[in-house]
Amino acid sequence: MVSGGSGPSGFQAVRETNLGVVLRAVRALAPCSRAAVAAATGLNKTTVSSLVTDLMARGLVRETGEEAAERRVGRPGVMLALDPATIAAVGVEVNVDYLSVVAVDLLERELLGAHIDFDARAAGPDACAGRIAEAVTAAVADPALAGRAVIGASVAVPGLVDAPSGTVTRAPNLGWHAYPLRERLVARLAGTGAAEVPVRVDNDANLGAVAEFRAGHLARTPDLVYLTGEVGIGAGVLLNGELVRGSTGFAGEIGHVRVAPDGPECACGRRGCLEAVAGVEAVLRRAVPDRAPEGPLSGTEIGELVRTAVERAEADDPTAVAALRDAGGWLGRGVAVLVNLLDPKAVVLGGYFVPLAPWLLPECRAAAGADAFAADGGCRIEASALGLSAAATGGAVGLIHALDSGRLPLPAPHREPARA
Ligand SMILES: [Zn+2]
Repeated sequence: MVSGGSGPSGFQAVRETNLGVVLRAVRALAPCSRAAVAAATGLNKTTVSSLVTDLMARGLVRETGEEAAERRVGRPGVMLALDPATIAAVGVEVNVDYLSVVAVDLLERELLGAHIDFDARAAGPDACAGRIAEAVTAAVADPALAGRAVIGASVAVPGLVDAPSGTVTRAPNLGWHAYPLRERLVARLAGTGAAEVPVRVDNDANLGAVAEFRAGHLARTPDLVYLTGEVGIGAGVLLNGELVRGSTGFAGEIGHVRVAPDGPECACGRRGCLEAVAGVEAVLRRAVPDRAPEGPLSGTEIGELVRTAVERAEADDPTAVAALRDAGGWLGRGVAVLVNLLDPKAVVLGGYFVPLAPWLLPECRAAAGADAFAADGGCRIEASALGLSAAATGGAVGLIHALDSGRLPLPAPHREPARA
């Protein structure tokens, strides 16, 4: 419950906050009566009734038609639930070799999911912004979202992002530097069916961590680290359920921790960084050396080489198995750094680490256990169950969560308010 503030703006701010409080309560308690919401939030029943009427007009809460056992007099006995039919949130994930698109409803259930082969590294930032804008426009127009208001589109990028401005500060694996992605996307979306959709840009590891916390098999683990398994390796760090970004957004750049002092050169210009020995491109060059061409691998090549590496490792090909186990060991050294610094409950390996996990995980756990200070190795290390769209999912469910927590404006009322 929030009180205080004066004048119309103060009153409006308090009301907006309280709408979020009631929305969160209905999410947690549904199906529930207005009286139960009042009891759980500490708001008085008249205020709750008024806020519920407002949320119903915005299409966020509905009456289920059931009545509560504790029904006494009038409306408080009617049960409430979230209305899953009126809004959607879109998440897009940019990788070196593909885009993922996901849309979810207010209950965080997936409405659509698409995987688009796209060579973002070769395309460059402007063409990539164009492709993302097309993907957002297509999602908004998709029949699966028909009749829904889209509350936002989140874009996950493998690089350092200044989240407030949506500028990609640095993405070495895409070759982007100080690229104002959000600004360019807003310009591209103008005049399309998605022109009114607010756009957010964030780091892919951060959004992967959000996805694991909200929807993964380790959901509700508040101290969790998500590692992206792409050409680069980034860590999304959640402590006590909140993202740790650092003072300038660099928090979690585990991919550029030096684990092999005499190791190969990294895209950042240094030597022996974790991603130079355990990033998916580095691993594939050693696991399937006869298939990997010179120069940066294209998106299609990475996907194909991962499949070949898995097939060969399943057939006990010694080169493939040794390369994957070796990479697992380096990963474990990187994980131990995180465990010693942050003491998470779980570290989740995402992206291409998932199909490679049968060979990576045993060595990763052993190396992390050997290097971690905690006697039992510190934490669980698991493969993600969210596949190649974890960051897209994290972005979309993060927008839904932002509605509940007042960090995203609620959709405007569009229905006749029900008479109280
Ligand atoms: Zn590096």
